[in-house]
Amino acid sequence: MNPLRVGLLGLGTVGRGTFNVLQRNQDVIRRRAGRGIEITQIGVRDAARARAQLGDGVPVTQDLRAVVGNPDIDIVVELIGGIEPARELILAAIANDKHVVTANKALLALHGNEIFDAAQRMGVMVAFEAAVGGGIPIIKALREGLTGNRIEWIAGIINGTSNFILSRMRDTGAAFGEALRQAQDLGYAEADPRFDINGTDAAHKIAILAAIAFGVPIRFDAAHVEGIERLAAEDIRYAEQLGYRIKLLGITRITPAGVELRVHPTLIPAGRLLANVEGAMNAVLVKGDAVGTTMYYGPGAGAEPTASAVVADLVDVTRMHTADPEDRVPHLAFQPDALVRLPWLGIDDTVTSYYFRMRVADQPGVLADIARILADCRISIDALFQREPAEGENQTDVIMLTHEALERDVNTALQRIEALRTVLAPVIRIRQESLA
Ligand code: NAP
Repeated sequence: MNPLRVGLLGLGTVGRGTFNVLQRNQDVIRRRAGRGIEITQIGVRDAARARAQLGDGVPVTQDLRAVVGNPDIDIVVELIGGIEPARELILAAIANDKHVVTANKALLALHGNEIFDAAQRMGVMVAFEAAVGGGIPIIKALREGLTGNRIEWIAGIINGTSNFILSRMRDTGAAFGEALRQAQDLGYAEADPRFDINGTDAAHKIAILAAIAFGVPIRFDAAHVEGIERLAAEDIRYAEQLGYRIKLLGITRITPAGVELRVHPTLIPAGRLLANVEGAMNAVLVKGDAVGTTMYYGPGAGAEPTASAVVADLVDVTRMHTADPEDRVPHLAFQPDALVRLPWLGIDDTVTSYYFRMRVADQPGVLADIARILADCRISIDALFQREPAEGENQTDVIMLTHEALERDVNTALQRIEALRTVLAPVIRIRQESLA
């Protein structure tokens, strides 16, 4: 059989990784896919630079529209990233009856519904394993391996850069800015790491996972997003003293009232596997009603780990492209006409436990005032300690863990606490998950 012909858009980190893995492993890939997979044309911004990297073997063009319109191409692999022109190119490839493989989580989080609708109408596949968790086959696990379950919740460390920074802050006591600089020096963080540290990248990914888990359209705009940029080294230290680690988690959960979708720093009991995922690694916990809790761990980024997922998608498309579109695995795991619209819960409607750090005057009665306000707002304290003030200091930190409480009640309580004359700074709050 003739090889399947691939048009590759973008020859950056993942593009080059994909090119190399396809070349190096072509024999095993052919044995698995039943035919070869061959890169027929590459679209880049700088063709001279690409030719210098690859030699003259593969035709290179600066005209990306020519690639998506090339009649000799069966599958377009989009690895340029960003929204435009990636969206326009993918829609053009679909309109030209080509299958698409992409690693572009930002694009799918914002325009996935439009792209999957277009693919559905044309009867082509859009595969996106590399968009979430890099080399971890989490999309395949959710869409296929766990398909007998009702998914209850997903919680994941799905941004390696922020996890690396948090690990550094805990290991070395470094402040956030210093840990970020180390991440940049070691090549983990982009020159512009905003989406990694402000939670946006993790929100793109958890929005995609929520749709697949619950059979709903992708709704990135429904996500509550907080990053790690305001975390202080002392909160990481206090959490440690209480037996917890702080991780940036993407969380989605289905409740009788609707779907929660949130990204925020989270205290996790230090003994949990997820709490021990360190450095740039990723891990995703999935709770299914039948299987219980499962965990998927591995490198969430990098040239070849991400290429591993891209190539797996290419093999899937190669195996399935002659199948009837109805017989293929649906893009979002549920049949398109079986997607449902569920209410999305705002963060105010979320129930979790909390960590609070309060800077207070070191004088009698302060704790009693705070405890009264919390009780009035239906918030009960699980653990509490007060740091011994340093010699000559007249203020100190009070650290508290609470039992589960409604975020709306917590907002009311913290407003009243911050109005106390003896509370000297805004209260630091970090949500807590038992992941049980
Ligand atoms: P990258 O290193 O920046 O590579 C992007 C490539 O696309 C560059 O070669 C760039 O060319 C080219 N490009 C961008 N816009 C273009 C345009 N309009 N026309 C022609 N070429 C264009 O990015 P990457 O890290 O490989 O990421 C690619 C995709 O994979 C993104 O969607 C990203 O979110 C996703 N992803 C990446 C990783 C990872 O570990 N890096 C992991 C998972 C998913 P120039 O060099 O000339 O700008």
